[in-house]
Amino acid sequence: MKKSIFDHIIHGGDYNPDQWINTPEIWDEDMRLMNLAHVNSATVSIFSWSMLEPQEGVYNFEWLDKLLDKLHENGKEVILATPSGARPTWLAQKYPEVLRVEETGIRNEYGVRHNHCLTSPIYREKVRNINTLLAQRYKDHPAVKMWHISNEYCGECHCDLCQEAFREWLKKEYNNSLDELNYKWWNGFWSHQITDWSQINSPKFRGENHVSAMKLAWNRFVSESHISFFENEIAPLREITPDIPITTNFMKLYDGIDYQKFAKHLDLVSWDNYPAWDRGFNDTEACDTAFVHDAFRTMGGGKPFFMMESTPSLVNWHNVNKLPRPGRQELSSIQAVAHGADSVQYFQWRKSRGGHEKYHGAVVDHCGHENTRVFREVSHLGSVLEKLSNVVGEECNSKVAVIADWENSWAVKHFCGFNNDHRDYFKECIKWYAPFYKKGISVDVISMEDDYSKYDLVIAPFLYMLKDGTIDRIESYVKNGGNFVTTYLFGFVDKDDFCYLGGFPGGKLKDVFGVWCEETDSLPEGMKNSVKYNGKDYDVVKICDLIHAKGSEVQGTYQKDFYKDYPAITKNTYGKGNAYYVAFRNDDNFTDDFCYDLIDKYGIKADTEIKAEDGVTIRKRGDTIFIMNFADTEKTIMLDKEYTNVVDGVSVKGEITLTVCGYIILE
Ligand SMILES: [Zn+2]
Repeated sequence: MKKSIFDHIIHGGDYNPDQWINTPEIWDEDMRLMNLAHVNSATVSIFSWSMLEPQEGVYNFEWLDKLLDKLHENGKEVILATPSGARPTWLAQKYPEVLRVEETGIRNEYGVRHNHCLTSPIYREKVRNINTLLAQRYKDHPAVKMWHISNEYCGECHCDLCQEAFREWLKKEYNNSLDELNYKWWNGFWSHQITDWSQINSPKFRGENHVSAMKLAWNRFVSESHISFFENEIAPLREITPDIPITTNFMKLYDGIDYQKFAKHLDLVSWDNYPAWDRGFNDTEACDTAFVHDAFRTMGGGKPFFMMESTPSLVNWHNVNKLPRPGRQELSSIQAVAHGADSVQYFQWRKSRGGHEKYHGAVVDHCGHENTRVFREVSHLGSVLEKLSNVVGEECNSKVAVIADWENSWAVKHFCGFNNDHRDYFKECIKWYAPFYKKGISVDVISMEDDYSKYDLVIAPFLYMLKDGTIDRIESYVKNGGNFVTTYLFGFVDKDDFCYLGGFPGGKLKDVFGVWCEETDSLPEGMKNSVKYNGKDYDVVKICDLIHAKGSEVQGTYQKDFYKDYPAITKNTYGKGNAYYVAFRNDDNFTDDFCYDLIDKYGIKADTEIKAEDGVTIRKRGDTIFIMNFADTEKTIMLDKEYTNVVDGVSVKGEITLTVCGYIILE
């Protein structure tokens, strides 16, 4: 079923005409250029607070009135931003409490962006006020189609207000009981018993930073503070403009906020996509990016998402900013659509003349005209996107899920022990995602709290921490016929990083998997063990569990060290399903080969019957098939039947060749 806010792909991006307010001819030229570039949308007013409220209580909306009218007259749809991501100087000067206090305990001075306290009642009030005025003024404006809340929420504040809010949060979390908190944080260790709530402060380098349960609690508190700040921001918008959908732009795998929880507060999930193509053109970056697209699509309940930012050429924030080769941005944009995006948007439409981001890529460069390589590429892509209205709103159908859980990423980062040099949680998740991606199999990326029942196969790499209810969820899934794969350090602790007693994994998972883990070995850089699986030897690196099979079938064993012949891969049939334990980390082909066996065994189907060479990926969305070449050489694909090329309407069959950065869209 189609679930979409728009009936076409949104093509546009961040537009900052307030920077050109004294040159109205530039605004007119922008309209001409947007039409040439097949741009149908603009995201405006993201950092416009000081233009909208130049002095406290003194407002200037006239420029925005004119701009929205102009965009509407030119057929452009507007995504209107709220300006809380950066504040006017007067506000910070008059109310210093709105400025953020860093982990050092020192309050920041005015400057940069994202520099605000998440708790400050004054800042929350000021944000609510400006948002109310925006909503009242533009609630009936025909150009305004969506709200873009703030920008790239991130960071944390350690001010007194936030410390007090943290203590209040802890009281709720631990039933107002210091005994319970002391127990779950195991505060008898190093004599850390807390006898009054006021003794608790945020984790700090020069203070308490060795209590992993406390650090987890702080992560949760900060994440919930962002969500509560967001809810405060949108309250007037929900009231005044209930029919205008709301989004905010997330940042890749940023772990300062639990995006899986935040997403539930949005009408549509958006993210800013900046693949590091300049590190070398390869399909690994494409796989990493595909994983993130799939994660955001899944967070939004499988509905289409927006790629709210991307660069039409280079960025300015890498150490060295290499120009991407021609065609790369177009391919990258098509990949987003193939994975469920209903938009291709840029940061930014026009380069600033001054300021920090003046050398960040833009559709319109400082030269100011359309005769540039980048403009021609954007314009070409825009003309392609106009042909793709059939995919708008279409979902992807996945029978495989990889659990990549934000809260587990925190737990994995905080505990001390085993291999402290190598945690790489999300990297491990991507490693287990990759074999399915390469085979053109759609994968959802879920949290441990999501519903597993719709999947034939669920893979949970490095699922060290288990939130309440997860043990039951896994047990019930397997018992009812699901196939669940997990790896090393599985189910060691509960949500407070509190070890399960009686052997790992915790509770009845030992029965579900038919194993118990007695010890865990860590391998220094360069040291390897190996595992024999299906007659082939695979490397064991960095970390491995020493497990005992308790009724499970041993499918692979260690080949060296005192634990030679110990089980390393087990399969346990439990109820109607199967539970696999892969006890080690591997950096070569094991994960691929093991997953390919699961694909065969459980009859997991690729999106299409078309076979492609390595480096070429195939995705199906609705009835539309995207074949994309991310390799650095030309590739040949054999089609299984006759298709129509969506872009030119021509029939295609047999062998087709894709150039470097080439793609074809078929129906
Ligand atoms: Zn604060």
